[in-house]
Amino acid sequence: MELGAHDLLWLLLPLAAASGWWVARLDHRLRPAKAARDFPSAYFKGLNFLLNEQPDKAIEVFIKVLEVDSETVETHLALGNLFRRRGEVERAIRIHQNLIARPTLDKEQRSQALLELGQDYLKAGLFDRAENLFLELAEYRLHNQQALRFLMQIYQQEKEWEQAIATCRKLARATGTAFDDVIAQYYCELAEQAVTAKDVNGAHGFIKQALAADRQCVRASILLGRLEAMQGRHREAIKAWKRIEEQDAHYLGEVADQMAASFQALGDEDGLYDFLQAALQAHGGVAMMLALAAVIKQRQGIGAAEEFVVDWLHREPSVHGLQYLIDLNLAEADLSVRDDLVLLRDIIGELIEQQRGYICRQCGFKGKSLHWQCPSCKRWNAMKPFFGGALD
Ligand SMILES: [Zn+2]
Repeated sequence: MELGAHDLLWLLLPLAAASGWWVARLDHRLRPAKAARDFPSAYFKGLNFLLNEQPDKAIEVFIKVLEVDSETVETHLALGNLFRRRGEVERAIRIHQNLIARPTLDKEQRSQALLELGQDYLKAGLFDRAENLFLELAEYRLHNQQALRFLMQIYQQEKEWEQAIATCRKLARATGTAFDDVIAQYYCELAEQAVTAKDVNGAHGFIKQALAADRQCVRASILLGRLEAMQGRHREAIKAWKRIEEQDAHYLGEVADQMAASFQALGDEDGLYDFLQAALQAHGGVAMMLALAAVIKQRQGIGAAEEFVVDWLHREPSVHGLQYLIDLNLAEADLSVRDDLVLLRDIIGELIEQQRGYICRQCGFKGKSLHWQCPSCKRWNAMKPFFGGALD
């Protein structure tokens, strides 16, 4: 990537102004004669190196210029920033480290350079160094909010959730904005770690804290239900999953199969039937329809299930419903039509695969699995399930 003309112009203007070149021409008494004489030529030499794609030589020149005149700090910050944006992190680090070493910097200039250097380290994957710089800035309340945001980014990437929570709380205090839903997600991450480590009590504790931070946290309800079901406490599991209906019914489909299994473990077929029917009536949704069709098939046979699906398809046409209908017919089909039905079902299956997934409401990213943090825009709680193009 080359420096564009626009970039160069942008660098040129403030530096020329800051150099006092013009001022010195108007009034020689305002500036030391040496800086006025040397600065522009050194500066244009640096620009020339940049234009000729010799950035290291350009950096040498600019660093020398800085020694002559500390008013060029802004331009060095801009230059370092430019290198980082171009992915030339080592060069950015060199410029920013050199800046910080200047004894003439004032407090604001120094903290700005530290903030930039921290971002260089972050981009270079040197998380420990970046963390130390941002912690220092946050401690002295210099660029506090930005430093805290970068720290959160580091702790998320490193999966250090306790520290992420503490940082998020500080940021909430500093900005006066609540980040309760994000804090709840961090607690859910801790709960999942505890489940993996077979620490059931720990997991319960974290889920409780997630729900204390954000009553609307669907993920906490999903996790709690799974944890209870894992321990054979199916009644409690169902209670936890039922909360999703009030939190965000879009996610009910995520637990439809698990709920059915827990109702069945309790021998409560009626309870399952009643719940699914009420949920389908209230919120619609393919996943609930399919779960209910399976129950009807078990209780009243294929004919009743078929009738139910056909009726539903009339109101809400969907490829999922169609596929299920074909499945039902396949069980009783004559050999003569069987192959055709199998082919049709496979084609529809392919269609479904293409259409089913999760979409980020923030940036539009689509994925096949549910991420609580969007892999693209990194926003939490933005991915929603969708079927056939529409949100389910
Ligand atoms: Zn996104």
